[in-house]
Amino acid sequence: MSSTALDKATGFAQPPYDVLALRQDFPILDREVHGKPLVYLDNAATSQTPQQVIDVFSAYYSRYNANIHRGLHTLADEATAAFEGTRQRVKAFLNAEDPRQIIFTRGTTEAINLVVQSWGRTNLNAGDEVLISLLEHHSNIVPWQLLAAERGFTIKVIPVDESGALDMQAYRELLSERTKLVAVNHVSNALGTINPVKEMAALAHQQGALILVDGAQATPHQTVDVQDIDADFYAFSGHKVYGPTGVGVLYGKKALLETMPPWQGGGEMIKTVSFDAGTTFASIPHKFEAGTPAIAEVIALGRALEWLDGVGVAAIGEWENVLLKHATQAVSSIDGLRILGTAPNKAGVLSFVVDGAHAQDIGLLIDQLGVAIRTGHHCAQPLLHHFGVDATCRASFAAYNTLDEVDTFVAALNRVIGMVR
Ligand SMILES: *Cc1c(COP(=O)(O)O)cnc(C)c1O
Repeated sequence: MSSTALDKATGFAQPPYDVLALRQDFPILDREVHGKPLVYLDNAATSQTPQQVIDVFSAYYSRYNANIHRGLHTLADEATAAFEGTRQRVKAFLNAEDPRQIIFTRGTTEAINLVVQSWGRTNLNAGDEVLISLLEHHSNIVPWQLLAAERGFTIKVIPVDESGALDMQAYRELLSERTKLVAVNHVSNALGTINPVKEMAALAHQQGALILVDGAQATPHQTVDVQDIDADFYAFSGHKVYGPTGVGVLYGKKALLETMPPWQGGGEMIKTVSFDAGTTFASIPHKFEAGTPAIAEVIALGRALEWLDGVGVAAIGEWENVLLKHATQAVSSIDGLRILGTAPNKAGVLSFVVDGAHAQDIGLLIDQLGVAIRTGHHCAQPLLHHFGVDATCRASFAAYNTLDEVDTFVAALNRVIGMVR
């Protein structure tokens, strides 16, 4: 596509989105798989990492590797400054009020478990209800189930319509004075549905309930403003925003975080420790960051967000929509292919099943042609069962994917379907 055509397609002001230049930042995109150029379309599982982020690890371990906060020497100061610099950057990235609302975790999963074990364990009792959407990733289902089994509160499920959009009428009806918390993802990893979390937050708050938003799929594709959403908790993972694995973030409203008890004990999270007088805890965010954190990963996450801000997350989201439209149109002509997830508000995920062809077979064979897609339940078994399937094929797009790659994927898919049918 010429840049003028691209401008037209995306409605961009100058300069146009330069996907080929941006690809240069990702060394992995040069590799081959089974003798074919890699076409990486598994971005909803993990995004690839730009060289600028990879370089952070070598710089950190070769120049200023030191434990943070406790040291008084130069290396410790440098490491602490870089680590806390990421906290400032995440604060800006989410538009939080205060960097102390940013807690580093191992990922979205651990961020949700923190809320469940700290806030949930303190506030949820028999008779209370937690509303969870049918679109949720297992990481926003199972931690609640584990605690519900112990505490006796009830989990209710917000249903979806046939397009994979949440049934907002049902949501309104499920909300009641028994509802203590609503747990919902901002964007579904299995279908790509974008949920109206701002409206959902307002409705939850009218009932005196809190809302936890799982932002693992939203943060790579759109600008997120936790104050505008009025989210009580917001979680995301580093490895889905072009950062490393092993690090994620929990944002929480200050008044909530300040009253919540610690969930893990250890170094760094205390003020004083005594066998006689008892132990007192550090203030937020350190109260929730027991032990030595993933220092290099946190610093690298900061670099990833800098990269993301440099390109512009809104521009990336627009480009992914161009890719998604092109892919959706191209696969629609394939005989017996059914797309799951056709909500009007959708991010760059294409989930589908093909009559007479198992998702696993398609995934294995298309890999032989160099194309990486994901097949399976995408950690959303309840949702897939609702649509009457055990597995789908999922192609998911990122900043660096091209229209040519989409064409390669569709041609490969046609070939593979011809082979297995
Ligand atoms: C990936 C993902 C998670 C889990 O993230 P981890 O990085 O594995 O902790 C949760 N929710 C959604 C929507 C996801 O896409």
